[in-house]
Amino acid sequence: MPSETIKLTAKFKLKEPPKGLDELFQTYWEIVNYLITHAFENNVTSFYRLKKETYKGLRKEYHELPSHYLYTACQMATSIFKSFRKRRKKGKAKGKPVFKKEVIMLDDHLFKLDLGKGVIKLSTPKGRILLEFYPASYHEKFKGWKVGQAWLVKTPKGVFLNVVFSKEVEVSEPEAFVGVDLNENNVTLSLPNGEFVQIITHEREIRTGYFVKRRKIQRKIRGGKRRKELLEKYGQRERNRLNDLYHKLANKIVELAEKYGGIALEDLTKIRDSIRYSAEMNGRLHRWSFRKFQSIIEYKAKLRGVRVVFVNPAFTSSLCPVCGGKLSPNGHRVLKCLNCGFEADRDVVGSWNIRLRALKMWGVTVPPESQPMKMGGWKVSRNDVYALYKSYG
Ligand SMILES: [Zn+2]
Repeated sequence: MPSETIKLTAKFKLKEPPKGLDELFQTYWEIVNYLITHAFENNVTSFYRLKKETYKGLRKEYHELPSHYLYTACQMATSIFKSFRKRRKKGKAKGKPVFKKEVIMLDDHLFKLDLGKGVIKLSTPKGRILLEFYPASYHEKFKGWKVGQAWLVKTPKGVFLNVVFSKEVEVSEPEAFVGVDLNENNVTLSLPNGEFVQIITHEREIRTGYFVKRRKIQRKIRGGKRRKELLEKYGQRERNRLNDLYHKLANKIVELAEKYGGIALEDLTKIRDSIRYSAEMNGRLHRWSFRKFQSIIEYKAKLRGVRVVFVNPAFTSSLCPVCGGKLSPNGHRVLKCLNCGFEADRDVVGSWNIRLRALKMWGVTVPPESQPMKMGGWKVSRNDVYALYKSYG
């Protein structure tokens, strides 16, 4: 059975970080900036070259620091310099790159995480120190996962350790695919048995609610720290609420797809159907949250052995799933094929086409359920949608 790797990042908030940690943040910050300057002045984009050219000098100066801090600092400096070069090419960066954040990158030599005891052992210039963290219930699921890289991050809310966990899972060959069409206010699924499921998500209402709230704050409170804090608070609340929604929806989608073994999603790195794009996916925030939602579906699916494929999203809601002809708008949200007379809700069309594309990708040419549709006059109205969930619960 083919296996795939799932990678997830978990946050651990430290209880009373020791004072020595401030010093470590300062030292690391100095080293990364020294390395960035070296990379910048000598145009070094290779991690190995940067390490080779700076290691001896740094070792001498910071002889108490465990050597792996120098390795991770080189990794950070290389990636910061590379992204600076990219931005400079596009005219988005000037001057010289600087590392401003209080972040320390750790590899597996520098820390050991004990989920059971709630402690982290960290190597420092003064030997190993024990850091305690606040346990969260979601940490439990990472027991038995492989621990990879981590980042110590200092924020106004405290010091966090962000750890990347990975797990190998077995994913079976899919028997069929569930096509999933993500929209701003609904998720529509096309099942292999010919049925459609639409879940109304109310995401638009949530977004509008928070948008109105932010506007009110901006009108009432003029500038200052208080305003910034309030805006941040509600921004965080909105993200938490959407995140919670995405998790619930993803559970439902994976549950419906489990017996078929496959889920088809649109590849959002490609340009989506221009009609829907302008109508519903305006704004980079939406694009970001669709990607986020997809990544939740993806890892939840993999955890249950369900394969996820990404299909080209071009014209998924403007071509007829029956004959491939061009669809025209025919009333509110309804599309009609001028070639064969097929008519359906456009979310139904979208999810259907996504599923058909996954089948094609998998080498299945004629989906059997398309046959009766060729007779024309078929209509899938909103009322015929197999199950209309009033909410996602
Ligand atoms: Zn048609």
